[in-house]
Amino acid sequence: MSGVSAERVASRWGRITAPFRATFGHTLDVALPTLCPSCREQVDGSGLCASCWSRLTPIAPPYCERLGIPFAYDPGPGVLSMEAISNPPAYHRARAAVRFDDVSRSLVHALKYGDRLDLAPIMGRWMARAGREILSGADALVPVPLHWRRLWARRFNQSAQLGKTISAESGVLLAETTLKRVKATAQQVGLSQSERATNVQGAFEVPAESKAEVVGRNLVLIDDVLTSGATVDACARSLLRAGARRVDVLVFARVVDAVRAPI
Ligand SMILES: [Zn+2]
Repeated sequence: MSGVSAERVASRWGRITAPFRATFGHTLDVALPTLCPSCREQVDGSGLCASCWSRLTPIAPPYCERLGIPFAYDPGPGVLSMEAISNPPAYHRARAAVRFDDVSRSLVHALKYGDRLDLAPIMGRWMARAGREILSGADALVPVPLHWRRLWARRFNQSAQLGKTISAESGVLLAETTLKRVKATAQQVGLSQSERATNVQGAFEVPAESKAEVVGRNLVLIDDVLTSGATVDACARSLLRAGARRVDVLVFARVVDAVRAPI
């Protein structure tokens, strides 16, 4: 590296692809600038640049007590949305840090497919804040598991990475092996709501040796994104069948089609 300035190395390496960065980035930490996962601008430290940061939409009350979907106005505490009443999920409550949009999608993708594990603590802290209410009564955090083949290919489970930070922030134990994905399912992307539910049916199981960690416990499922809710619903059903007392859900981003009026 002699004769080449750090700046020149930085600009030359700034646009390299994520896998390459993941392979060689550790040895070149000094030279590699951090890029905003959304717009690819250089950022100081980690996470989003100021401009992309301001485009994120946090999810805050008022929202449906059950699904965590934002309401257009505050109907008072405990009010549910029409969806929560007409089609109640297996889980008790869901909370999300931000809305799923272009910016939050870029964060999720950078973490999941771009080896940007440095984003997990930032995203996890936002989740811990958004989920304070459900974390306060929780016995353990259960990350939505990957099938072992996908885990092997990706080398890490993004939900478990988020769970580590949430556990450190909240003091709630991380139970990484409580739930297993026993069926290698197709990606949910591009499937209809009913196809998604069928796709993950029977995909999750509590192994016999983990039953004791579940029986009578209040658990919080951790995932990166909530779209139709089919995955967390299938996970919640497995945990409840194994004897869990209550299952809540905490995700980084959730799809919000439209802000609803409370019923
Ligand atoms: Zn940016």
